[in-house]
Amino acid sequence: MFRVGSGHDTHRLTEGRPLILGGVAIPHSRGLYGHSDADAVLHAITDALLGAAGLGDIGDAYPDTDPRWQGADSRRFLSETLAKLNQLGWRPVNLDVTIFAEEPKLGPVKSAIRDTVANLIGLPPDCVNVKAKSGEKVGHIGRGEAIGCHAVVLIERSGERPA
Ligand code: MG
Repeated sequence: MFRVGSGHDTHRLTEGRPLILGGVAIPHSRGLYGHSDADAVLHAITDALLGAAGLGDIGDAYPDTDPRWQGADSRRFLSETLAKLNQLGWRPVNLDVTIFAEEPKLGPVKSAIRDTVANLIGLPPDCVNVKAKSGEKVGHIGRGEAIGCHAVVLIERSGERPA
């Protein structure tokens, strides 16, 4: 059995924060603002996985009103979500991720993000695709005010659902 899920996330760019995308720290003058480490890529992927498995969304699982997630490493959200899916017998098949950013230019770091995400999910790098799009100078992304990410994931489960 196969299921598909999609996830989307946007965070505001601000001074005085590190820029972390897909678990990779990217040198830049500004970073993403948020309750956790604001890794929009891992948040979109986590939401896509939760969606595929019918498990709600990242806001339900990790509310930004909970002090436990203040400054949290988003790799934890992903690994805990993968463990939940695993308990239900689901495993990821492939992942397609599009990052929307006017700056910094992500071409040079796309492959590092792909390799890091593949490693976090436990997939070969050719099962994870990372694309980068600019905002064409329009809207909040085009003006460099935010970075967004969209992720689509396919998951599969073989045999009967574990008891
Ligand atoms: Mg987020």
